[in-house]
Amino acid sequence: MDAGIEILEVGPRDGLQIDPVILPTDTKIELISRLLAAGLKRIEVASFVNPRKVPQMADAEQVLAGLTRPEGVHFTGLVLNRRGFDRAAAAGCNEIGMVVVASDTFSVRNQGVSTEESILGWLGVARAAQEQGIRAQVTISAAFGCPFEGEVPLARVLEIATRCAEVEPFEICFADTIGVAVPSQVTELLTQARARLPGTRLRCHFHNTRNTGIANAWAAVECGVSALDASVGGIGGCPFAPAATGNIATEDLIYMLDRSGVATGVSLAGLIETTKWLQRQLGREAPGMLHKAGDFPKRALQ
Ligand code: MG
Repeated sequence: MDAGIEILEVGPRDGLQIDPVILPTDTKIELISRLLAAGLKRIEVASFVNPRKVPQMADAEQVLAGLTRPEGVHFTGLVLNRRGFDRAAAAGCNEIGMVVVASDTFSVRNQGVSTEESILGWLGVARAAQEQGIRAQVTISAAFGCPFEGEVPLARVLEIATRCAEVEPFEICFADTIGVAVPSQVTELLTQARARLPGTRLRCHFHNTRNTGIANAWAAVECGVSALDASVGGIGGCPFAPAATGNIATEDLIYMLDRSGVATGVSLAGLIETTKWLQRQLGREAPGMLHKAGDFPKRALQ
């Protein structure tokens, strides 16, 4: 397992999007700058959605305007439609991510469109992005379970992925949006997805809602995913489990990968420092564990 794993840091968007604290624009810019300094090269910086619905992301353009993108770095913007894509492109995102929800009920409630309409929307946005030289990737959310419909059939998830792959996206991500997946389910989905879509980069997005997120991440590593999502400090809740923690913490993931010999290029010390700083900005403790326990250096203790 020496090919390495790329981390897509989703804290500035997924982490902050449902946070009760709305951070000032300058603080968001500092957060992203600190993440870059820790070695992260792919960061979901904002979402370009209706600011009345998501006031936490109302300053998406200003955040991008305040950042300098180093060579080799990708700033991802989440978009839900063509209008959002046009905003992300104008703001300078060099990657966009779109979401297709695997179950119709969740899709209609979350995005106001059916899964089918959402797939068609993705295909259009992906083509527009490709014409402009912007990397386009899609996340199939609720791929491991839906809060309204329960189990989502594996065959349906694979069919959606196959449809989404028609435009040859940069990558397809399977997301456990509500944090119900277990490792055996991850292995089964990824094994079948790789057989169905050979040559397509696969990524996963896990939540630690039921404490299975990090185990799911390892299952995904063993299946050869190209990238994993994580958020600094584990910030970002699960809207369908209000009392639960959210995304897997980037530093917890890096610790596991580092000590397992999987290269990420990210500094654990820099991440821990950033989580401690972020806790002060949010005024509460972050749910991740590594920033509390600390690193366990590889070198033998003297
Ligand atoms: Mg998430």
